[in-house]
Amino acid sequence: MPDNPAYTDSMNRLIDQFARLPGIGRRTAERLAFHVLKSASDDALQLAHAISDVKQNVKHCSQCYNLTETDPCAICSDSRRDQRKILVVEQPKDVISLEQTHVYDGVYHVLLGHIAPLEGVQPADLSIAPLVERVKRLAEDQPVEVILGTNPNMEGDGTALYLAEQLQKVAHCTVTRLARGLPVGTQLEYANKAVLSDAITSRQSLD
Ligand SMILES: [Zn+2]
Repeated sequence: MPDNPAYTDSMNRLIDQFARLPGIGRRTAERLAFHVLKSASDDALQLAHAISDVKQNVKHCSQCYNLTETDPCAICSDSRRDQRKILVVEQPKDVISLEQTHVYDGVYHVLLGHIAPLEGVQPADLSIAPLVERVKRLAEDQPVEVILGTNPNMEGDGTALYLAEQLQKVAHCTVTRLARGLPVGTQLEYANKAVLSDAITSRQSLD
């Protein structure tokens, strides 16, 4: 939709930016822009700073690729967690859902997506090579368990299969998959806590 000439340039710019956000239509973008315009200067600036801070401070952990402001992240640097048990998920949001169950005491690896050849997403586009390297390094002296926690849908299963093939070649590495209590076709981030807890505790070996 073209800019409304009745608004000032700055307002049109802000409306355009809001309208680019997912799930925000033009009308909502206009409402948000007017909300910012009416709000106290301090509030509006805090919003601007929060956006800028997120972009400047939040990065991927160099070990697990989860989002963090410290590197390594809080989970990777927690000595109470079992660093030899790695749960592989697609997105940072999955880590949040799994952490809410409080039943998992290992660490994570975030793939940052799933293999989807039709959408042009190849293994090299994900953090798969760093995962294999990480497992090889850890498995040199002691056993490592990798739990595949990709989504139980076509792309997630395909990705899990590919990972299992890569990881089963690594000595001292056991590969397991989250249990099938998860309804087929769902996404981890929407599964409820009880189902997720059960999926972790009754995970199945792929060997
Ligand atoms: Zn980490």
